[in-house]
Amino acid sequence: MINIKFPDGNVRQYEDGVTPLDIAKSISEGFARNVLAASLNDEEWDISRPICMDGDIKFFKWEDAEGKHAFWHTSAHLLAEALQELYPNVQFGIGPAVETGFYYDIDTGGTPLTDADFAKIEKKMTELAQKNEAVVRADISKADALKFFGDKGQTLKCELINDLEDGHITTYTQGNFTDLCRGPHIPSTGAIKAIKVMSLAGAYWRGDETRPQLTRVYGITFPKKKMLEEYLVLLEEAKKRDHRKIGKEMELFAFSPNVGQGLPLWLPKGAALRNRLQDMLAKIQKRYGYQQVITPHIGNKLLYVTSGHYAKYGKDSFRPITTPEEGEEYMLKPMNCPHHCEIYKTAPRSYRDLPIRYAEFGTVYRYEQSGELHGLTRVRSFTQDDAHLFCTPDQLKQEFLGVMDIISFIFKVFGFNYEAQISLRDPNNKEKYVGSDEVWEKAERAIVEACEEKGLVAKQVTGEAAFYGPKLDFMVKDALGRRWQLGTIQVDYNLPERFQLEYTGADNQKHRPVMIHRAPFGSLERFVAVLLEHTAGKLPLWLVPDQCVVLPISEKFNDYAHYVADELNKLDVRAIVDDRNEKIGRKIRDNELKRIPYLLIVGEKEAGCEEVSIRKQGEGDQGSKKITTFAADINREVAEMTNF
Ligand SMILES: [Zn+2]
Ligand SMILES: [Zn+2]
Repeated sequence: MINIKFPDGNVRQYEDGVTPLDIAKSISEGFARNVLAASLNDEEWDISRPICMDGDIKFFKWEDAEGKHAFWHTSAHLLAEALQELYPNVQFGIGPAVETGFYYDIDTGGTPLTDADFAKIEKKMTELAQKNEAVVRADISKADALKFFGDKGQTLKCELINDLEDGHITTYTQGNFTDLCRGPHIPSTGAIKAIKVMSLAGAYWRGDETRPQLTRVYGITFPKKKMLEEYLVLLEEAKKRDHRKIGKEMELFAFSPNVGQGLPLWLPKGAALRNRLQDMLAKIQKRYGYQQVITPHIGNKLLYVTSGHYAKYGKDSFRPITTPEEGEEYMLKPMNCPHHCEIYKTAPRSYRDLPIRYAEFGTVYRYEQSGELHGLTRVRSFTQDDAHLFCTPDQLKQEFLGVMDIISFIFKVFGFNYEAQISLRDPNNKEKYVGSDEVWEKAERAIVEACEEKGLVAKQVTGEAAFYGPKLDFMVKDALGRRWQLGTIQVDYNLPERFQLEYTGADNQKHRPVMIHRAPFGSLERFVAVLLEHTAGKLPLWLVPDQCVVLPISEKFNDYAHYVADELNKLDVRAIVDDRNEKIGRKIRDNELKRIPYLLIVGEKEAGCEEVSIRKQGEGDQGSKKITTFAADINREVAEMTNF
């Protein structure tokens, strides 16, 4: 008999060779039906794989990433099985599960795949899934594996096997298809009920440009037909909300190949929007005792050698800038922290000066691979809403509470739901981390207590902390239910050490301050991207570039329209005029598409009495008002929203 311990601490005894699926059934048939994957002592474990030792078991369902992962991994094999039937000479590379779905890299051997083949592949996959073939794991020696895949002409697989250690090689087989694979998999293919081949891409074998280019076939599958339908609707909606598309339509930002890839250009409307975000945050931060600082975009290379950033970013990012001075080198700053440490060092500090909070909207530069660049979410230059807090170890919790207030406030203003995660150190691997046991325990306790005090449910993950300190991350869920990592609060014991930061304590001795890095938005670029996708570009009135557009019903009233816009702008309402020679119906439609909250229609009647006829986006006709009354109403609405 073996002892199996459940996540709730219960231990039960089972026969040797019991499978996780048997164990799940011993709990309840209903539970077992939903289990897709398991882990034994934190090792991934097929639910059909026998267990012959004591261990801690965990079960994963579709709702868990591990459950989806096993489901999609088996789906990748199903795709390969279908391709093998359809294209007998196909060569297989690798076929993993990814965050949404799976792919397989293949070489069809002459006949290139196109979108037109998707239906045929889906049909074959469906046919094979309906056979409900068992997915069977087998251990295989290296020699046997080389022979097996060699005989099949799978040279890419043989190359992979050559890099593996004998005694640790496994295959998974369903029907006529066998793959070199570590698993885990779901027990059989019948659970795959809805199948969609999504797209094709080129991919170099093993990511090496000198090797053959393979075809990467992306797919997604679901255990229910309805889930696929819902997913496709969501995908369509996400496409409509793509911030790159909305940003262009709203004239917020652009990219130019002449400036360089991944270097965003903020257009006037975008720059103004970004300034409003900055002003909002600066206002809140001032209340929480932050002091604004400004530092250069470059720094001496030695500064980053001291901070350790050169080791991290030097080789794989923008290279140092040389000067006419022999041996002098500068770096575009990849981080603002070293500059702020130097500001801390400009004066002797006493415990009475702490905490010190330096904030900067600091632009940093990091070289991302061109294939990784994506709109404003992955760029090579971005502006962090950065701040560094220097405090005593005893002040850590209080500082955390303050930062959490700022972050939760911001997320509330924009209507984001959010989740939090605390990253703790691995207690079995303490030598990996800088800082004493005592400070780590204190910091981790401070974070956990701060979350408890704020009633914030935060997932605790051990072993995820950076080597220099624990952190708290915030993930927002947007209107489509997608998760985005935004704000972070990171404790740091490393930089104060490297920069020899000190303060004089009440005991008259020198001490090291603790440093906290924090960025509620993450970066302004990323935040604007997430906000545009979350709101589909329908930004709140206080933030939106143009609050209203004046539409003259004919050319005759263009002068009055411009007069109205001028008056409104004088009263701090952001107004533009659409004086194109178009029919009024067309103008209304066009400007509604531009997501402008208020359309002000003016003609003979309005011009005669200093009025405007108001249409509100999504709500239609709102009647007429005097220009000054409308301005006062807008300003009141904005004031209520920006009572930060
Ligand atoms: Zn596999
Ligand atoms: Zn920092």
